[in-house]
Amino acid sequence: MITREVPLIFTAGAPGRTGYMPPASDVQEESVDTLIPAAYLRDEAPPLPELSELEVVRHFINLSRLNHAVDVGFYPLGSCTMKYNPKVNEAAAALPGFARIHPYQPEESVQGALAMMWHLGRYLCEISGLHAASLQPAAGAQGELAGLMVIKAYHEAQGAGQQRREVIVPDSAHGTNPASAAMCGYKVITVPSDSQGGMDLEALQAAVGPATAGLMLTNPNTLGLFDANIVEIARIVHEAGGLLYYDGANANAILGISRPGEMGFDVVHFNLHKTFSTPHGGGGPGAGPIVVCKELEPFLPVPVVVKKADDTYALDYDRPQSVGRVRSFYGNFGVLVRAYTYIRRLGPDGLKQVSETAVLHANYLLSKLKPYFDLPYDRVCMHEFVLSGKRQKAKGVRTLDIAKRMLDFGIHAPTVYFPLIVDEALMIEPTETETLETLDAFVEVMTTIAREVEENPEVVKEAPHHTPVGRLDETRAARQPNLRWRPS
Ligand SMILES: *Cc1c(COP(=O)(O)O)cnc(C)c1O
Repeated sequence: MITREVPLIFTAGAPGRTGYMPPASDVQEESVDTLIPAAYLRDEAPPLPELSELEVVRHFINLSRLNHAVDVGFYPLGSCTMKYNPKVNEAAAALPGFARIHPYQPEESVQGALAMMWHLGRYLCEISGLHAASLQPAAGAQGELAGLMVIKAYHEAQGAGQQRREVIVPDSAHGTNPASAAMCGYKVITVPSDSQGGMDLEALQAAVGPATAGLMLTNPNTLGLFDANIVEIARIVHEAGGLLYYDGANANAILGISRPGEMGFDVVHFNLHKTFSTPHGGGGPGAGPIVVCKELEPFLPVPVVVKKADDTYALDYDRPQSVGRVRSFYGNFGVLVRAYTYIRRLGPDGLKQVSETAVLHANYLLSKLKPYFDLPYDRVCMHEFVLSGKRQKAKGVRTLDIAKRMLDFGIHAPTVYFPLIVDEALMIEPTETETLETLDAFVEVMTTIAREVEENPEVVKEAPHHTPVGRLDETRAARQPNLRWRPS
């Protein structure tokens, strides 16, 4: 049901109207036919609308106003770290020396870009407690695949490639973890969580063996809980000959406080667009650099940015054991500039403060909301937490309804129905960038909805009431996306 509409741009404009006034051409015009081979020419010009500049601007501004964004309002989408993205990052990424370079330029003409990448790699090594980085992967999920390819190449180099065929993931894992392992050709072994929401050590002990290539884990995990058994977990996996992969999507909780390398992990990916602030959602762009321990460095994707003895920087392709290229050119370079800017601007103390504040905000919300919703694991949380809508379900209201109702209050819904091990899950991540007033307003909205479920459930079940579009067939939108308009 559409309640507010922006007309199609094809219905606007008038023949001959333009949005530009170019000066008269002072070069001899050649006929189109001589410039473009006949096979590529259309019989008729496409029926494009002819518009003034103002019509174009209004059209797209009005479209953008139908959207929610972190620059518009609160966006507590768990696991996705929708923090405010400082505008200084954009200024840095737009500097002509970064924005206008070409990936085929000779190395000596892009020393600044290579220096930035080299330093960013060093910072990620420092933050993770590991040894060497590749900035190539374009997203967390691609970092997972690249990291697993590195693990696979390592086992193959040890002569154990045929034998080590399995990757272990906990049942709380993000869906990309088992998907990446399967894509890399591994059999996925799922280990259950214990009653505290951590990894069940006995089940892990039973799952590891000579076939184990590695374990994928995020810590804090998707329940927002830190697994204090991590050193023991690492010991069990390493003793079985496997390696540990750290899904760094939850790094916003640990910056400057604990390091995956010291927890025992061998490979880490960071989601720069989450933790290190690049606007994301709706498909990107992102960056998922990987950082590895010393033993795994030879297997990193090529090229690797290196600093030479004369203090100049270069792209090193001469890595015989490398897994090869995983992304064209330099990776998503603009995202790397934003992350570099963010890290430099905050420095080590600032990054630590990010995580401390993110954890404080999450615990503040958790303590305020606990009386109104079920809480499956009642522990101090890290930067996010997971409530259950079980109590509301008993009244005939689903978590999906609650999420839709939140849109009426100008708040982006939290992540719902994930992690899979929590019934009617609501996964809330406030991030460090919100004010106390915003957090309190959110508590007010959540308690209002909890009251509506008791007193007037229909208003929640039929939500949203005040958004540009009502409930959509989300499954069909995901499975049969039709993004193209055709004249009828
Ligand atoms: C976001 C996320 C991923 C995947 O990262 P993308 O950058 O979206 O590919 C993996 N694991 C967890 C826990 C995440 O939150």
